[in-house]
Amino acid sequence: MNKTKLFFDKIKDIFMFREGGDTDNYLTPPVVTSGSILWGILLRSAVMIIIIIVLVLAFNKRDLAWFGVFIFWFGVVYPAYKQYTAFNKRLSVLEEETLCGKCKHFVKESQLCSILDEHISKDNIPCDGSSWEANMELF
Ligand code: SF4
Repeated sequence: MNKTKLFFDKIKDIFMFREGGDTDNYLTPPVVTSGSILWGILLRSAVMIIIIIVLVLAFNKRDLAWFGVFIFWFGVVYPAYKQYTAFNKRLSVLEEETLCGKCKHFVKESQLCSILDEHISKDNIPCDGSSWEANMELF
């Protein structure tokens, strides 16, 4: 991996712009979770609000606040939407392709087994199937 890509990956991680990928279906815990998306929204919002306030006060122009709304959309709302869409798509694949996905103890949004309180993945079924109970809503 070249240094520029590594640098931008690090920046992405710092501001949580990462969308995650199918590898998260094999990781416990996954890199992108609903919590990481929420944390990213809060972090980016805080940074954007500070930047907007500083710019408005520095230039003493309230019109810049509209520019702030525009930046807020592209810096916070749109990345969060993209992250959440990718996250939901990945979870649907996980649900479809694992035993846990059809179990009533599986909590999709957190990728967790509710009775063992452990993350599940394609390679990790914490109960090895012994506690599996059909989720009748899926059948
Ligand atoms: S009980 Fe077993 S099969 Fe069901 S979600 Fe938990 S680990 Fe998966």
